[in-house]
Formats: sequence, C-alpha cells, structure tokens
Amino acid sequence: MKILGIEHVGIAVDDLTSATPFWELLLKDCNKYSEKVEDQKVNTKIFDTEQGKIELLEATTDDSPIAKFITKKGRGIHHICLQVENIDEVISELAQAGILMIDQQPRIGTEGYKIAFVHPKSTGGVLVELAEKQ
Ligand code: ZN
Repeated sequence: MKILGIEHVGIAVDDLTSATPFWELLLKDCNKYSEKVEDQKVNTKIFDTEQGKIELLEATTDDSPIAKFITKKGRGIHHICLQVENIDEVISELAQAGILMIDQQPRIGTEGYKIAFVHPKSTGGVLVELAEKQ
C-alpha cells in the first residue's frame, strides 16, 4: 500500500466563528475554503499549507460525530488524514491484518475525496482517516 503523506489534521471546534481567527492569523497566506459535508453533519473550514491542511470541523447537528466527540473528549485534534494512492487496496490490507475499520467501503468526503476511517481501537486511540484524491 502506498501512503502519499499527511493530507490534513482535523480539529473539532465549538463553532467556526470563534475558532477561525487564530488560524486566519497564522495561515493568512494559505488558500482557504469552506464546505458543508451533509453526510458527516459538519461545516468545515480548510487552510491549505500546501504541505498538509488544517481542517476545522463544526457540528451542524447535536448528533453529529463532532458534537459527540466534543461532549466526550472536548474540542481539539479529532483525526489525522493520510492520503493514499489506492484506498480500496489499503482498506483490504488493513482488514486482512485484523485492523478494525469504521468504513469497510470508501465513501465521499470533503473535496470529493474517497475516504474511510480506521477505528481508534486499532490505532492506539487516534482516529485515522484515509483519503484518495479522485
Ligand atoms: Zn478529515
């Protein structure tokens, strides 16, 4: 399986309005964009450093995975995302090694990437996202 690098770090925030100013200051020269991901019940604000992105995640509903995460663990780093060349291949190799996948099949995430999450139970407590650019 080929890993191309760290695509982004996802950060759970209470709300984008209060969380954004620090990142706007630090990453003012980066490309930035916002996207609502209905499937994951989040609004995102993405800062692209061109060597990995920072993805701020705000829950859009009380049952959003981000709302649940903040209730349980508080705001902060939510997941890391690795860009892979072929997500189907990586999922199958991990599954064969007994790694617990949240997504057995890829789905469509931010920016239209094919994504799948690996369960933190199999990663030492870190939510890991795999993403293949289409
Ligand atoms: Zn992500």
